[in-house]
Amino acid sequence: MIDTLRVTAQEANDLLTSGEASSDEIFSAYRAAIDERDGELNCFLHVNDDAPGAGVPVAFKDVISTRGIPTTAGSKILEGFKPVYDATVAERCAARGLRTIGKTNMDEFAMGSSTENSAYGPTRNPWDPERVPGGSSGGSAAAVAAGMAPWALGSDTGGSVKQPAALCGVVGLRPTYGTVSRYGIVAFASSLDQIGPVAKTVADCAFLYSVVAGHDPRDTTTVELPEPVQVPEAEDLRGLRVGVPKELNEAEGIEAGVSEAVNAAVELCRELGAEVGECELPRSVEFGLPCYYLIAPSEASSNLARYDGVRYGLRVSPDGIREMYEQTRDAGFGDEPKRRIMLGTYALSSGYYDAYYAQAQKVRTVIRHEFAAALERFDVLVSPTSPTVAFPLGAKTENPLAMYLSDVLAIPPNMAGLPGLSIPCGLSEGLPVGLQLIGPQFSENVLFRAGHALEQALGFDYVPPRLAA
Ligand code: GLN
Repeated sequence: MIDTLRVTAQEANDLLTSGEASSDEIFSAYRAAIDERDGELNCFLHVNDDAPGAGVPVAFKDVISTRGIPTTAGSKILEGFKPVYDATVAERCAARGLRTIGKTNMDEFAMGSSTENSAYGPTRNPWDPERVPGGSSGGSAAAVAAGMAPWALGSDTGGSVKQPAALCGVVGLRPTYGTVSRYGIVAFASSLDQIGPVAKTVADCAFLYSVVAGHDPRDTTTVELPEPVQVPEAEDLRGLRVGVPKELNEAEGIEAGVSEAVNAAVELCRELGAEVGECELPRSVEFGLPCYYLIAPSEASSNLARYDGVRYGLRVSPDGIREMYEQTRDAGFGDEPKRRIMLGTYALSSGYYDAYYAQAQKVRTVIRHEFAAALERFDVLVSPTSPTVAFPLGAKTENPLAMYLSDVLAIPPNMAGLPGLSIPCGLSEGLPVGLQLIGPQFSENVLFRAGHALEQALGFDYVPPRLAA
């Protein structure tokens, strides 16, 4: 029997290539884990029992279009929608033999930090089902942590891969903007959206990234990677300059237990041979979140205009076309997308455009320069991924601003188009703490190398104790 809680994707693949297990046996093992645990955890919106392929399974966040397989983005407005084509990332996984085991739960249209904004009920955290898995890719992160998929793809606009990976004790990469195709992805905020892998180890993350990354003629925002992805093997950090941005590590609201685990990881960087120093990102940390909450809703208000009852999913059919638009959108969207559409429409309106949207774009340039300056002195910047460990279900649902603050540390590098890797670095109150590693554009190989060396030295056990046999 394959212990899906423990085996990595690489190990599952080794079982396959050595002939110790067939692709069907491996698929069945994960499928059995879904039967056993998903009733409680609600990671999957759709399980795909007849998934072709000769390799190991993979799960996709439900923003990724899969031909003939329901794709809802966690929204009622797309209930029952079956895309007529595959997203490029799905196509690339299939081309490598990966079998789509299912579509994972998420905050509606990827708007949220806890997966509680899903129209199909929240996902629960495998470490403690009374707590959230993070979001918006909470279904993907929890599915990996609970052994229901060896790895998964999520999407990260403002932290939605990094933060749930942190809260579920797994590894997540938000890639450099422009390295992974968005063709066939349900759009949220197009200047920020990126698809990224979630897995148990840095090496698995690197491998899945290598499968999906690179130029796609169908997405003109993509580029070829400047160098091939290297699956990491390094055991030390000699020669690496690690910067500790003061504001990203001392921001208000960071829990003491989170700081402790992160500080210990920084100390470990030193022991592994890195040169560690302090730096500053004052404006990025102060203005990153407000800037994001102007730009992301503005882009969302435009992207979500396409859900009008004509083209996809739900249609409410009263008399009159205007009535159809209004009633379809009123019935189909939940509160958070409606809130964002209103905020974004306001920020883009002619009287306020310069004061809000245009101003936010200028601030974004300031953030980009600030990171660039810090990354001249350092190869990698480190901080907590999330200020807190997984919080109880319902703790922030009544207060959107408190929920938005979950990503206060994850968002600033995203505004600058930078890649970020979250690795588990310890426990606080028995729950996983994530360490965020940030690098310059296209520095994924450096992040993988550093993340892998730290991972080996930390020896974090990614199996949630309550599920361990
Ligand atoms: N939590 C952030 C938001 O609600 C980020 C979401 C994301 O990255 N998709 O917008």
